[in-house]
Amino acid sequence: RAKQKGRNAWQCFTGEINDEVSSRMALRNDLQEAIEAGSFELHYQPLLNADDGSVAGFEALVRWKHPQRGYLSPGLFIPLAEDTGQIVPISEWVLRQACRDMCRLDAAGLGRYRVSVNLSPLQFHRPHFLANLQLALEETGLAPDGLELELTEGILMNDTDAAIETLRALREMGVEVSIDDFGTGYSSLSYLKQLPIGKIKIDRSFIRDVTTNPHDSAIVQGIISMAHHLGLKVVAEGIEEARQSDYLAAHGCDVFQGFHFARPMPLERLTTYLVESHGAGTVANRGPDPVK
Ligand code: C2E
Ligand code: MG
Ligand code: MG
Ligand code: MG
Repeated sequence: RAKQKGRNAWQCFTGEINDEVSSRMALRNDLQEAIEAGSFELHYQPLLNADDGSVAGFEALVRWKHPQRGYLSPGLFIPLAEDTGQIVPISEWVLRQACRDMCRLDAAGLGRYRVSVNLSPLQFHRPHFLANLQLALEETGLAPDGLELELTEGILMNDTDAAIETLRALREMGVEVSIDDFGTGYSSLSYLKQLPIGKIKIDRSFIRDVTTNPHDSAIVQGIISMAHHLGLKVVAEGIEEARQSDYLAAHGCDVFQGFHFARPMPLERLTTYLVESHGAGTVANRGPDPVK
């Protein structure tokens, strides 16, 4: 964020700010059309249990099917959508689509899997968030334990007491909650113990050099140990090499996610993935997650 601001300031002096403003406006208009036309797609990335390699669930990741530019990654439009509020209708669609897709896998006999959906701050803090969520589950027919919400630390920072209330309600509903990109935000360890959550996902910036950088390995080991003492499961994201998952397994990490195992893929390809590499319906892995 600081970097971005710095760049903007510099652009002010060069007059490029106008380009930036007009390209943001163009993007915003395009995004509005995309929302109205329903030009989004969800891709799913498998999460694997470290102990036996079975499928623990999937993370739903939104893509924008742009008529000229092809698939656009969320990094290119989610931040803008958060600024403009367009994230609200996008998120509504993502949530329902993810629930519907899980029901579809179940109906096809492929298994009952849990889907992780990324939550935007705006969504979490909106009035009636819980009622809307309940409605989405009812309308799509997904059981609450088939859903996991990924929150970033920043979401919980604002009004921690209210956030804890909401998290408690989610837990009562049976919806799982994880902290995403753990370690990159406001990593106060004392606040973690107050949060009724089930999992933390270690950010991939710590995973990249975990086998070679002693600082990263110390941080990762510390996070895993602390999480386990608090009764939380640990997911490592961004695993690109076998030696990273070997290291993480040796240090007790519970769940793996990364290109080394599987890339995000459209539902059709996920179906094939489940049939071919993991056997249909082998893993349901819902309900309370045991902590090692
Ligand atoms: P995230 O929630 O941390 O999601 C993980 C990101 O890491 C995804 O990028 C995924 O494709 C990528 N990734 C997974 N494994 C690897 C790996 O081994 N190496 C590398 N280099 N990358 C890996 P993606 O799909 O581009 O999403 C980026 C971010 O956009 C997400 O980060 C999340 O914060 C946000 N996002 C995605 N979908 C949604 C959504 O539906 N709603 C909201 N609010 N945000 C979303
Ligand atoms: Mg995520
Ligand atoms: Mg993440
Ligand atoms: Mg991340």
